[in-house]
Amino acid sequence: MTAKETSIERRIDRLHAVGIVDFHFDLLIDLYEKRNQSDVLTSHFLPEFEAGGIGVLGVAIYIEDRYLPEMGLRVALDQVARLYAEVEQTERFAICKTSAEIEQARAANKIALLITMEGVEPLGEDLNLLHAFYELGLRSVGLTHARRNAAGSGGIFKSSGSPRDGLTNFGRDLVRECERLGIIIDLAHINPQGFEDIVDLTSKPLIVSHTNARKFYDIERNISDEQIKIIGQRGGVVGVNAILVSPDPQTSTINCYVDHIEHVMGLTGIDRVGIGFDFCEYLFQQLPESVRAELAAKLTTPHFIPDLTNHSHARNLTRKLIERRFSDEQIEKILRGNWLRIFKELL
Ligand SMILES: [Zn+2]
Repeated sequence: MTAKETSIERRIDRLHAVGIVDFHFDLLIDLYEKRNQSDVLTSHFLPEFEAGGIGVLGVAIYIEDRYLPEMGLRVALDQVARLYAEVEQTERFAICKTSAEIEQARAANKIALLITMEGVEPLGEDLNLLHAFYELGLRSVGLTHARRNAAGSGGIFKSSGSPRDGLTNFGRDLVRECERLGIIIDLAHINPQGFEDIVDLTSKPLIVSHTNARKFYDIERNISDEQIKIIGQRGGVVGVNAILVSPDPQTSTINCYVDHIEHVMGLTGIDRVGIGFDFCEYLFQQLPESVRAELAAKLTTPHFIPDLTNHSHARNLTRKLIERRFSDEQIEKILRGNWLRIFKELL
């Protein structure tokens, strides 16, 4: 390693020492699927989290189609139960419900986990269940995945053709109740009309935990420049997704990931962009070929970025930000500061 490379690595060490925040990780699906094993967090995930300097993670409750509708609530509760059981087995993680708890966890060198929900199918049409999940630690809710549910409709993985209607009455009640309780409202995946409805119904900062800019990948699952500006005006944060940076596998690179960061910054400033990696290659690898083909037909084929595929690769992003002349102050906001501000304001 040259002296210059060594100094860059030291700079990355410093920037990662306090822990970076990734606000979307599909961890709970896997904990549930591995429910007959123990210490899954420590054996399967901790080494990568440590290599990447991960400090805070949003871990999502997500229900696959095959469990819906009957098993949605049951599987969601089991996912949360698995998380609690796993966290009990190690000193290295803490499930956090407030900004102060995140700070305490970090001070004790624990990785802070925030429970999120991607699609409210587990709630059916029952707001009381939202309260129950809140008690269990749910602190961020995205109303839909790519499908329709009792709250609204998701944006599809095509440039047009998502359902035109916005939130249902239940969806509206749910959004109001989230804002009242202190649950972050996540606009990831919602269709364009649903996005607009949520903006109209709320007044606190809104976030998009994991998405990409339609400028580079024009699908309704991603967000437009107009939507990015709205999140900015509302004081929110856009988390940049690592699996949909480009429709073309050849240009799905870390450079393109950074292009998305720069694009959000250009529209709304440095205080409005964060990380929502959505690393799910490991889940993909576990699927039989036939299921992968089925998912590709129903949704899309994700284009994983070779050197940004799991949490151990997080340093590659920081190295690229340094190479592209971001200052330490800017990198610190992207990797951590902006999300922590949201947690402080809303939790
Ligand atoms: Zn997602």
